[in-house]
Amino acid sequence: MAPAIERLAIVGLGLIGSSIARAVKAKLPGVAVTGHDVSDAVRGEAEALGLCDRIAADPAEAVADADLVIFAVPVGGMADAARAAAPGLKAKAIISDVGSSKAGVGAALRDALPGHLVIPAHPVAGTENSGPAAGFASLFDGRWCIVTPPADAPAEAVAALEAFWSALGAKVETMDAAHHDMVLAVTSHLPHLIAYTIVGTASELEEVTESEVIKYSAGGFRDFTRIAASDPVMWRDVFLANRDAVLATLQRFNEDLTVLQQAIRRGDGDKLEDWFTRTRAIRRSIIEQGQDDAAPDFGRKH
Ligand code: NAP
Repeated sequence: MAPAIERLAIVGLGLIGSSIARAVKAKLPGVAVTGHDVSDAVRGEAEALGLCDRIAADPAEAVADADLVIFAVPVGGMADAARAAAPGLKAKAIISDVGSSKAGVGAALRDALPGHLVIPAHPVAGTENSGPAAGFASLFDGRWCIVTPPADAPAEAVAALEAFWSALGAKVETMDAAHHDMVLAVTSHLPHLIAYTIVGTASELEEVTESEVIKYSAGGFRDFTRIAASDPVMWRDVFLANRDAVLATLQRFNEDLTVLQQAIRRGDGDKLEDWFTRTRAIRRSIIEQGQDDAAPDFGRKH
C-alpha cells in the first residue's frame, strides 16, 4: 500500500496552491499543511483566509518535515522556488508541482534539486482568476490530474502522489511528460493562444469600434474573452516552456485554417458543413464524459 502523506508543504498560494490547501482541509483533514509564497501580501491574505495550518515566510522552513512538497508557482519560477526551498527539504520527501507544462518543469526541478525524488503532476483544472482568494475546495472534483513520473520513480511514491490527488477528488492518469506537453498544447495552450489573438485583433479593428465589440460580444466573442483574461505571467511562461509542442500544433492549426478559408472563398458549403458536424460531435462527447455541463450557453442566466 502507498505510504500516506501526513505533512504537506505548498509553495505558491495562488489559485491552484490555495485550492489544494482548501481541498486538503475539506477532504484530508488529518494532513498538516504549511504554506509559503514569495509575496508578503499573498502570505498575509492566506493567513487571513486560514488556508494552511502554518504559513512560513522562509521557503526552507516551510518545507522542513514535509512528506510531499508541491510547487504551485508559474512554470518559469519553478527552479528558483525549488532552489530557495532546497536547504529545508527532507531527503525522502516527494517533490511535485502543478505546472501546465511538464517536460521542462520536470528537468528544471531535477536540476535544482539533485538527489531528490521529483514526480511532476498537472491538475487539468483552473479558472481565469488568480490569487489566494480565487481558489476553492472543489476545483479538482472530477477533473483529471496527469502525473508524469520519471521511469525510475519508485512505484510506492508514485502511488502515494496518485492517492493524494484522488483524495482531493481528481481522476488520475499517468503519462510520459513529452506526450503530456503535446496533448495539452492541443487542448489548452493553442485555445489560449487563439483567444489571446482574437481578443487582441477585435480590439484593433479600424472598421468596428471597441464599444461595438463589447456591446455585441454575446455573438461568440465573450467566450474567448474569458480565456483571454487568464493570468498573463502564467501564460507567458507556458508558451515559453512548451514552445516546441505549441509551434507544432500551431502549424497544423494554420493548415486547417487555410482549408476552411479556401472553402469559404470557393463557396464549398459541403466542406464547411462536414467540418462543423464533426466539431459538434466533439462537444457532445465532452458533455457525455462529464467534462462540461450540457446547459445551453454554458448555463448563463438570460
Ligand atoms: P497564481 O494564482 O498567479 O499563483 C502563483 C503564486 O506563486 C503567486 O502568489 C506568486 O506570487 C507565487 N510565486 C511566484 N514565484 C514564487 C516563488 N519563487 N516562490 C514562492 N511563490 C512564488 O497562479 P496559479 O494559477 O495558481 O498557477 C500556479 C501554477 O499552476 C502554474 O505553474 C500554472 O501553470 C499551473 N496551473 C494553473 C492553472 C490555472 O488555470 N490557473 C491550471 C492548472 C495548472 P507573485 O504573484 O508575487 O509572483
